[in-house]
Amino acid sequence: MKRKVLFPGSFDPFTLGHDDIVKRALGLFDEVVIAVGYNEQKTGWKPVEERVASIKKVYADEPRVRVESYTGLTVDFVKEKGATAIVRGVRTMADFEYEMQLADVNRQLTGIETILLPASPQYASISSSIVRELAHFHHDISTFLP
Ligand code: ADP
Repeated sequence: MKRKVLFPGSFDPFTLGHDDIVKRALGLFDEVVIAVGYNEQKTGWKPVEERVASIKKVYADEPRVRVESYTGLTVDFVKEKGATAIVRGVRTMADFEYEMQLADVNRQLTGIETILLPASPQYASISSSIVRELAHFHHDISTFLP
């Protein structure tokens, strides 16, 4: 049986830090589903279809990566996709506290485990919100994107 992991996030935009987590998750699982979560009440910086399309381009030559959008509870989407776990990245203590709570609730609700990968030092300070801020002020953001 193929071992599939879900990597959920907003990916608005998808950065080198996210790409690093995907590549490392491919070393642990047979397949990675990048799940772009969206909220019907709140449109992001880029529309969700645009985010999905640009992430698909990044992994055009990697058949073990799939990219999909979803709304609602992440654990429901994990089950829908037949994944066995969730993977998330941790950059800071604040990330860690948040991710611990999420992981605990998700495991209690469904038994689905979350694997937390520590951010690689060279990408640890990259966040989608900083990239959006730079773009807003017309800075070149290409060095932060895969
Ligand atoms: P969310 O809105 O769910 O936090 P993000 O798109 O901001 O979604 O992040 C998705 C996941 O990627 C989260 O687990 C986040 O901690 C992780 N992540 C974000 N940036 C990095 C980075 N530079 N290095 C490693 N992990 C990261």
